[in-house]
Amino acid sequence: MPARPAGDAADRGNPGAGGSISLVIAGRILRRGELEPAEIGVDEDGRIVRVAKSLVGDRRADFGDRVILPAATDLHVHFREPGGPDSSEDLATGTLQAAFGGVGTVGDMPNNEPPVDSVEGVEEKVRRAHRRIAVDLVVYASLRDAASAEPLSRVAGAFKLYLAPTTGVDLPMAAPEIRAALEAVAGTGLPLTVHAEDPREFRSLPIIADTAHWDGHRPVAAELAGVAALLPAPPSLRLHIAHVTHGALADRLRLEGHSFEATPHHLLLSTRKTTGAFGKVNPPLRNEAERVALWKQFADGRIPCLASDHAPHSLGAKEKPFPMAPSGMPGVETMLPLLLARARSGEIPLPVLVAAACDRPARWLGLPVGRIAPGHRANLLVIDFRARHRLSAERLHAPCHWSAFEGWEAIFPQKHLRDGQPLVHDGEFVGRRDGAVVRPEYAPGPETGRKVGHFR
Ligand SMILES: [Zn+2]
Repeated sequence: MPARPAGDAADRGNPGAGGSISLVIAGRILRRGELEPAEIGVDEDGRIVRVAKSLVGDRRADFGDRVILPAATDLHVHFREPGGPDSSEDLATGTLQAAFGGVGTVGDMPNNEPPVDSVEGVEEKVRRAHRRIAVDLVVYASLRDAASAEPLSRVAGAFKLYLAPTTGVDLPMAAPEIRAALEAVAGTGLPLTVHAEDPREFRSLPIIADTAHWDGHRPVAAELAGVAALLPAPPSLRLHIAHVTHGALADRLRLEGHSFEATPHHLLLSTRKTTGAFGKVNPPLRNEAERVALWKQFADGRIPCLASDHAPHSLGAKEKPFPMAPSGMPGVETMLPLLLARARSGEIPLPVLVAAACDRPARWLGLPVGRIAPGHRANLLVIDFRARHRLSAERLHAPCHWSAFEGWEAIFPQKHLRDGQPLVHDGEFVGRRDGAVVRPEYAPGPETGRKVGHFR
């Protein structure tokens, strides 16, 4: 095909909206809820400057009828660096899995050993990330008390608050301190994620030997009480509740206008199947009827965010007797591929999935990614919906070598581009380990389906 003359119907980009177009990426993209052919113009800094039917640029990457989606943002991973001697993950291995799974930005949780709850701790994680991370990283700081919020806000990307003991957190904040801490975080403008389980609602059981018992031990009531302790939250607080497992809690949070997430394991797995300690997570898997209800809300677009709560533990640790085994499972590499397979089979509309996995998490963090629109970075995925795979832990990149989704259908991105440059290409990592530590660039306010912040 001859090159188009300049000044034809094609567009070289609007100089007022950004730089000139150095790369044109062509394929099918979601526009107004439908997949249609389009061309994405990217400038030399890797920013999208224009999206149109036809564009001219110095270079072209044409993906035909394949689908181009924004890379996902996973708000909730545990890459365990710094970590103890039993750690089966680090920033390098974790971000590599993210790259293969189509996740361009991860929020790394602070319950490390030692916990990241000081300015020095945050700076140490930033140092460790340098030239070792394959995708962009948001560093969460653990909120110790109200006074620590302001100094931490100058270095961290977001805050995490634990209401219940968990890996690396033995003594969660007591109830009277919580209110002051919420006010202090609201004053910093940074987002706050809360692990909201109230340990006073945990029940002791004579035997805890499977996931159904674990559900009985840490019931939905603990989540409801945990959230109740936070409400009403300061109006300017960018509050997000991690791993919501139950439709009743989702209803409550939607009513309050707060952001929240559901994980692939709470959406796809339940206590119905015996998985031993491999299914042990906090909060627990719920029963099948509750799982189906949560899935329905998700597929209907009533759950704002999808997040993996990637928390790998070694096979040895998970093979221990149930009470001794640690909670958590790997998920950053499989989150989007599992859900893309569900979109292909018609169980969830693709626009609903993209909003939850890519757009809203990025908006909540205040990052210019997650949308194919001018001003956003060209962190993109190329998806061939005909290329389905049976998931196999052997072919994943997790050092823990297991997945709770062994044998499930999955669609992995064929290509993952970062700033328009190839990061993953046909199952191979071809990029550089020069991911950036990123912090919020804008403040859209609390981010849910109801209160949608505006950016450009
Ligand atoms: Zn977690």
